[in-house]
Amino acid sequence: MEIDLDKIYHNARTLVSRLGERGISVTGVTKAALGSPEIANAWLRAGVLRLGDSRIENIATMQRANVTASMELIRSPMLSQLDLVVANTHLSYNTEIEVLRGLSSAARKANHTHGIILMVELGDLREGIMPEHLESAVRETLFLPNLVFQGIGSNLACRSGVSPDSRNMAELSALADSIEANLGVSVPTVSGGNSANLEWVLSGAETGRINHLRLGEALLLGREPLHRQVIKELHTDAITLKAEVIESKCKPTQPWGEIAQSAFGEVGPTYAKGSITQTIFAIGRQDVDFAGLDPPSGITILAASSDHLVVDSSNYPGGLAVGSEVPFQLNYSALLRSMTSPFVTKTMYSQLEHS
Ligand SMILES: *Cc1c(COP(=O)(O)O)cnc(C)c1O
Repeated sequence: MEIDLDKIYHNARTLVSRLGERGISVTGVTKAALGSPEIANAWLRAGVLRLGDSRIENIATMQRANVTASMELIRSPMLSQLDLVVANTHLSYNTEIEVLRGLSSAARKANHTHGIILMVELGDLREGIMPEHLESAVRETLFLPNLVFQGIGSNLACRSGVSPDSRNMAELSALADSIEANLGVSVPTVSGGNSANLEWVLSGAETGRINHLRLGEALLLGREPLHRQVIKELHTDAITLKAEVIESKCKPTQPWGEIAQSAFGEVGPTYAKGSITQTIFAIGRQDVDFAGLDPPSGITILAASSDHLVVDSSNYPGGLAVGSEVPFQLNYSALLRSMTSPFVTKTMYSQLEHS
């Protein structure tokens, strides 16, 4: 995997300034970068103020590398990890009273304070407190020692594909207003969501109380996740995956013999083209979600097993010799899997001098 830190920086700089004009600050979400300190530092240089990850292990990686920023756990903390959460993060996103109580006693034990953002369910049906129960959760947070209520948030478009829009975002703003009116506390952060909120925010919509987004995919891949459109002036090729050819031969497209299940249960789609140049790359399901790979033109992906990616390279200009390397673009799913594979070497490069 080749990671162009200058393009990563450019994407972050562009979005941070565009959102800043709308009064919206950014938490850079490092989970798809596995908490890479280099990527985190590029984002911080670009004006990202806070870093978030769903895994405490990734946050610990950044802490060990002396990445200096406010650290946030964006997945509800596990009861079994509360001491780690309090030790390694400044803030976490929460939905369960039991967890809040546990965080409070862990923070007290460690003589720390810990920030809390309460997540609200707005229809996507992943994490979130039902709106009618939000106020009592805020009350509980205010009551618990060593916790600091920092605001509310929502997450859409992850489980069910529910799009952030003026209706559900106005509901979040109204909840912030009613907490302030009824409980007499301020709600400093109103965190609208993830990269899926960008289309709505950048359309110039009235953003109300929304003053914060948590962004991963848009910063890394330059696309919004609802329709996977390129975000204006962002790089979509900051990250490429290069795979090496280990076999390339003229073969028929139809298998022969009695056909049962393949290694992964499916029988491949029929691809009847007579004979083709079939090429195998030394990369497989253990390293990448092959459905999310975008090959260069002239290459059609046919199938993948654990360690092999099988393609039709008949139309690849110049052909593919054994040992040659070909760059692929990755979608979010492919990126996540490749970052996580210990078999994929990550190479970062930058032309810019950073002091
Ligand atoms: C993953 C995640 C994000 C970032 O999502 P992107 O689509 O990568 O921007 C934000 N918030 C939460 C709660 C997440 O789990």
